[in-house]
Amino acid sequence: MLKIWNSLSRTREAFGSINPNEVRMYSCGPTVYAMPHIGNYRAYVTWDILRRVLEADGYRVVHCMNITDVGHLVGDGDEGQDKLQMSAEREGITAWEIAKRYEKIFLDDAKTLNVTLPEAPLLCHATDHIDDQIKLIQILDEKGFAYKTSDGLYFDTSKFPEYGKLSGQPLEEKMEGARVESNPEKRNPTDFALWKFSYPGGRDFDPAQDDPGKRRHMEWPSPWGLGFPGWHIECSAMSRKYLGQPFDIHTGGVDHIPVHHENEVAQSVAAYSVPLANFWIHVEFMTVDGQKMSKSLGNTYSLEDCRSKGVEPLAIRYFYLGAHYRSKLNFTWEAAKAAQNALNNLREAAREWDIPTDQEPDQGFYERFMEELNDDLNTPAALAVVWDMVKSDLDSGKKAATLLSFDKILCLGLDAYVAKPVSIPDHVKAIAQRRWEARLRQDWNEADQLRHELEGMGWQMDDGQDGYKLKPKV
Ligand code: AMP
Ligand code: ZN
Repeated sequence: MLKIWNSLSRTREAFGSINPNEVRMYSCGPTVYAMPHIGNYRAYVTWDILRRVLEADGYRVVHCMNITDVGHLVGDGDEGQDKLQMSAEREGITAWEIAKRYEKIFLDDAKTLNVTLPEAPLLCHATDHIDDQIKLIQILDEKGFAYKTSDGLYFDTSKFPEYGKLSGQPLEEKMEGARVESNPEKRNPTDFALWKFSYPGGRDFDPAQDDPGKRRHMEWPSPWGLGFPGWHIECSAMSRKYLGQPFDIHTGGVDHIPVHHENEVAQSVAAYSVPLANFWIHVEFMTVDGQKMSKSLGNTYSLEDCRSKGVEPLAIRYFYLGAHYRSKLNFTWEAAKAAQNALNNLREAAREWDIPTDQEPDQGFYERFMEELNDDLNTPAALAVVWDMVKSDLDSGKKAATLLSFDKILCLGLDAYVAKPVSIPDHVKAIAQRRWEARLRQDWNEADQLRHELEGMGWQMDDGQDGYKLKPKV
């Protein structure tokens, strides 16, 4: 059964669920304001693997994920503009249209990566849950955890003695870190916004002094005035609504630990006096030249960028699996192409096999594979088991059945290849033969031209010492 690193205890723990045979899991979803990049998707592929491993272990998984479509400010703190409003101004459309545009890209990309996301209502939007967030803020306000400044209602972290527990950072150190961007009206540097005002003091729009052309696209009335929720409150409100409290697993990127998740815990525990989640699982960054892949550093790549360089989304999925989720994964084109090659080799091997004779995987390999995944999601070791199996002397029908059982978790789309030998049309074979002959007589122009012709028809020739191999171009 699964052993997994719990950020809360900073140890590898044996996983156990609150309800028998059921896991309730919440993942912090994307802020839909700009083109998502392959760093972001590392997180979602990891949760997808985690969910599939839990299911293979016999659990029913209730997975809830939010879409942040309001309230996430530039810089992740309480200052600056809302990321969606900023993109709306840049792209000349409304924040609502921005949210729709980038959510669609995210959902389409997730599909091409074979990531199964929750469906509505478990895929939930911050803007659809304003009332739930207001209710939660009211509870915090009534319990004395909130105070007002000129730009919003804030959570007083000094009233929550456990603040800092998740990141294991002493409160003074956290306060020091937060001081840099601190608003002088905050009581403590680590305090954070629960509700932000559209206008100072929480007043309403006033046509006598406010320019109607500069109104926020997203704002709601509240007991504290016209405004919008802070970023963190949506996750506290929606996770409780759909999963109850406490639930089993909360996931996110490592960047969420010190602020976003710490704040979620503070809000939820302060309001209801029970833990938010038992297991906190965080994925490390994808980096470029050692630095986090991020929009602000301008070092991001989209799935489309990868496609244009001949790297398919599923090769990116393979690339993620090649590293442990708690290690940084450095992106280079060489590494991405190596992942594409490895996936191609796996496909080619699988094509040559017989149709699985029975559906039972080889028990020994399947157990080894699951053992690695249950060992803190050790995907690189699980991939090594895949290759050991491919190179083993099992009969090919058994190999096919075993690979298909692995692929229920890996989700590399291998069923499209297993036992599906390529049939090469005669005219393609003829061109390939002509090209090989041109090559032998060192007629490079002719050979190049025929290679291009083949590629245009969807075929690729791999030249060897004494012959060539013809395969579908990927
Ligand atoms: P965002 O849309 O910025 O809120 O990020 C969505 C998810 O992607 C969060 O879980 C982040 O922690 C994660 N994330 C952002 N950048 C990276 C990166 N370079 N590598 C891995 N995960 C990332
Ligand atoms: Zn969250």
